[in-house]
Amino acid sequence: MAIFLTAKLAGVEAAKLIRQGNSLQCSVCSSIIVTVPANWVEGKPLHGLQCPTDQKHFLVHLDNASAMKEMRARMRARENKPLQTLEIAHNRAEHMVEVYKDFQPLESVRVQLKYLLGLAKNEHADYSRLKDIIVGVYAAREFEAIDIEFAKMLYAVEEVVAELRRNANDGHVSSLI
Ligand SMILES: [Zn+2]
Repeated sequence: MAIFLTAKLAGVEAAKLIRQGNSLQCSVCSSIIVTVPANWVEGKPLHGLQCPTDQKHFLVHLDNASAMKEMRARMRARENKPLQTLEIAHNRAEHMVEVYKDFQPLESVRVQLKYLLGLAKNEHADYSRLKDIIVGVYAAREFEAIDIEFAKMLYAVEEVVAELRRNANDGHVSSLI
C-alpha cells in the first residue's frame, strides 16, 4: 500500500489511486485522506475525498450532477434558517402564478410549500404527508429549465424536509422554530 502526497494529485487521479487500494496523505497536515462516505467500499458510489483535519487542505468532489445539486442545496439550507428557506420558496411560488397560470407542477409545489410552512410554524402537526413531498423532483424535471433560481430554492426546501423528517422520527417536532 503506497502513500501519496495529495498536493500533486488531481481529483480523478486521487480517486483512481484510492480505488486501487492505496492510501493518500494530506500534504499540509499529513493526515490520511478519508473517503466520503467514510465507510466507502469498492463497488459503492464514492462521493469525494477529503482531509479529515481541514477540507481546505484537500477536498475533491467526485459526484454526478444530482449529487452536486444535493450538496449545493445542503449548503444553501445551512446558510438560511429553515423557516426562511420555506418562506422564500413559498413567496416565489406565489409570484410565479402570475406568469405560469394553471401550470400543474407549480400548483402542486404551492400546495406542498403551504403544507410545509404550516408544519414549520407549528400551525399543524401533520407529519404524515412529509413522505409525499417531491418539490425536488419538480425542480429537476420542470423548473430548472424555466427558472433556475426557483429550482435552487426547491432543492434547499428538500433539505429542510429532510430535517423535518429527522425531527419527526426523533419526536423533536418544534426544533425548527
Ligand atoms: Zn490536512
